[in-house]
Amino acid sequence: MQLEYGQAKRLLEGYKIKMPKGAIVKKENELERKLKGFKFPLVMKIDSRDVIHKSDVKGVRVGIQNLGEAKKAFVEILKNVRKKFPRAKINGVLCQELAKGKELIIGGKIDAQFGPIVLFGLGGVFVELLKDVSIRLAPITLKEAKEMTHEIKGYAYLKGFRGERSINFKAVESLLVKVGNLMSKEKGNVKELDLNPVIANDKNAELVDVRIIK
Ligand code: ADP
Ligand code: MG
Repeated sequence: MQLEYGQAKRLLEGYKIKMPKGAIVKKENELERKLKGFKFPLVMKIDSRDVIHKSDVKGVRVGIQNLGEAKKAFVEILKNVRKKFPRAKINGVLCQELAKGKELIIGGKIDAQFGPIVLFGLGGVFVELLKDVSIRLAPITLKEAKEMTHEIKGYAYLKGFRGERSINFKAVESLLVKVGNLMSKEKGNVKELDLNPVIANDKNAELVDVRIIK
């Protein structure tokens, strides 16, 4: 079973893994109050244990510019998801600020032979088409986390070229170590964990989407 946002967030917090600011909105008329203190543009997405791939059902809206757009998006997201999954248990709509940077993937699963493993790669086509990933058995040391970020082909892209700034590797490597700890301690409890994407820039690494399967 997939955890809802709040459950996943709590489990991650137990391993000192922080998610960016987020608000779960259950009714359209709560939006104004819940979005106080949020900076536009926002991203809004469905929170339901029954929806594994949110974009596939038009359950994600990126680049919401103001409260009016947020209200429209709220209604549309619920409509889109209910159309595809009439019986889905919907917890609400998660609102986040838009993160900027390069998209990474950090994953964990239980390998049938080797037990818990941690995976690192670039997001999008890099992982799907090019299979450019590094893998280690969990738990991992900081040294192993550094090897993981350095050995993928996409390393040069993350490091930046032509004057572009490097992503904050320390933030990513520390996240990898924490995910390794979680996977090794929670084996038998967590079957699969997907942080996809983690959005990294020169300052930090923000974990904007989490999928945990128990
Ligand atoms: P899913 O993987 O279930 O389709 P995501 O939450 O990963 O849903 O959203 C889909 C895509 O939208 C992400 O891969 C990312 O490109 C973008 N996205 C989602 N949340 C944010 C955010 N807070 N900031 C920037 N981009 C985001
Ligand atoms: Mg995702």
